[in-house]
Amino acid sequence: MSAAAPLWSRPLWAAQERFPVEVSEPWGRLERVADGIWALVSTPLEDRTTLCNGGIIAGRSGAVIIEAFGSDEGARWMAAQARRLTGRAPTHAVITHYHGDHTAGLRGTAETPDIEVLGTDVTIDLSMDNRNAASDVLGSATEVDRIRPTEIDLGDRSVILVPRRGHTASDITAEVPDASVVFCGDLVWNEMVPNYMDAVPSRLSQAVRLMRATSASTYVPGHGPLADTRALDLYLELLDDIEAAARRAMERGISSEQAGDEYRLPAGLAHWHAFQPTYFATAIGAWMRELGDS
Ligand SMILES: [Zn+2]
Repeated sequence: MSAAAPLWSRPLWAAQERFPVEVSEPWGRLERVADGIWALVSTPLEDRTTLCNGGIIAGRSGAVIIEAFGSDEGARWMAAQARRLTGRAPTHAVITHYHGDHTAGLRGTAETPDIEVLGTDVTIDLSMDNRNAASDVLGSATEVDRIRPTEIDLGDRSVILVPRRGHTASDITAEVPDASVVFCGDLVWNEMVPNYMDAVPSRLSQAVRLMRATSASTYVPGHGPLADTRALDLYLELLDDIEAAARRAMERGISSEQAGDEYRLPAGLAHWHAFQPTYFATAIGAWMRELGDS
């Protein structure tokens, strides 16, 4: 039996009761993580309307939506939640990277008049290449610098967009210093095995260590329940364990597929899920390619 098979067939994580749940739908729940900040925890095994996590950050002069989500309907729903919770239409939408589960709803995002869509040049280019309907939206998107942080000034609050790499070449995190909240995009997954499809593994581990070093109160992962520093430590344990598995596979001269089949989650992470059992082989293979190149 494949090691991963039972993992992804388990029921999804439940709310942790750390934060009040503002609204709950089949596709996810909005948790109020701080004054004027809500995080969406998507539950995609039940319903794929939103697919990825994201959120809403409100200030005196604007409201930012994080991510464009997995469908136009999902993006529309988030915009409606922003209007309901903040009393205003969203002014900005931040796309953390180009993957389809974060960008497929861009058309729904763009239905809000005058909304400014922000992403890196890589996100904009690759989303335009890959996505069916989003190119007209991204043609007018704002490019976020890939070296220096960008500030969105909301009057009484700043959202800092920090360019990072590792999950893809296009990652940005959205950080709210006054509330100690970090929207991590897919650099962080919680209670879920991350997708290494486009990852540069050493960069990913490094980016997560840098984020962990800030000791934020709340990390909103790209997938899975909301995280704190303890959850980030477990995640780093997984990333390091996958690296170690790749190094052993290279020493033994076995394939990433075989190493993925043989892979077992560390004892403290046995309850973590994988969207697909192949994620282990993909992750180990990404490490083997990087280590083989160096
Ligand atoms: Zn992704």
